[in-house]
Amino acid sequence: MQKLILLFSFLLISTGALAQADTSAFAKFNDFNNAVLNGGIKKAEAQKQFESLLKYISFREKVRNEGILPKGNWVFPLKGYKSNAIGGSHGNGYFDKGYRYLDGNKHGAHPAHDIFINDKNQDCMDDHTGKPVDVVSVDDGWVVACTNQWEPHSNMRGGKFIWIYHPASNVFTYYAHNNQIFVIPGEQVKQGQKIAEVGRTGYNAYKKRSPTHLHFSEFKLVDDIPVPFNPYEQLKKAKTL
Ligand SMILES: [Zn+2]
Repeated sequence: MQKLILLFSFLLISTGALAQADTSAFAKFNDFNNAVLNGGIKKAEAQKQFESLLKYISFREKVRNEGILPKGNWVFPLKGYKSNAIGGSHGNGYFDKGYRYLDGNKHGAHPAHDIFINDKNQDCMDDHTGKPVDVVSVDDGWVVACTNQWEPHSNMRGGKFIWIYHPASNVFTYYAHNNQIFVIPGEQVKQGQKIAEVGRTGYNAYKKRSPTHLHFSEFKLVDDIPVPFNPYEQLKKAKTL
């Protein structure tokens, strides 16, 4: 009996500790991402921190969702839109040469696709529906970093952005320039779940010459650092919600 009580209290304590560690791991990840963006962290240190945070987060997913496999196809990240809304021709707006995650806010590349909505007067409302356009998660995952704060004078390029980690396929997706975001770090999201509304936040996206769009990227882990690759084919095959 005593043994049973001991075991029970051990279980209680350990699950409590896990729950606490969870929140702090995601909060740390978010702080870390902000530090990278602001250039407030040395690269060697950043790499070390990234590795340990990532190990923790993927461990958490394994514990909770043992046996879950990646879904075959994505859903398109903008509700009611499909791949013909992607800027450039045949996805040529994507170029990742010179981009490094650890360089933060300073880089010259565009490792992303800009997906444009119908918004002639730039009020962030769809001209056809008169409503905001929903940004949805392309697959199941965990929100690992995001910010819901951005001021028009800020030089931060992503504006109100979201990073989602998809443990089953071991990739990240990134959604930038949102008007409003509806998730927080540590939140689990399902494929197709609304995470934000399309907006014009971010240093360049805010300017009048920029039509309203979602800036969307996908990153694979190479040597434990996110490296962008072109998600054009996945976007083309994605199902429209
Ligand atoms: Zn862009």
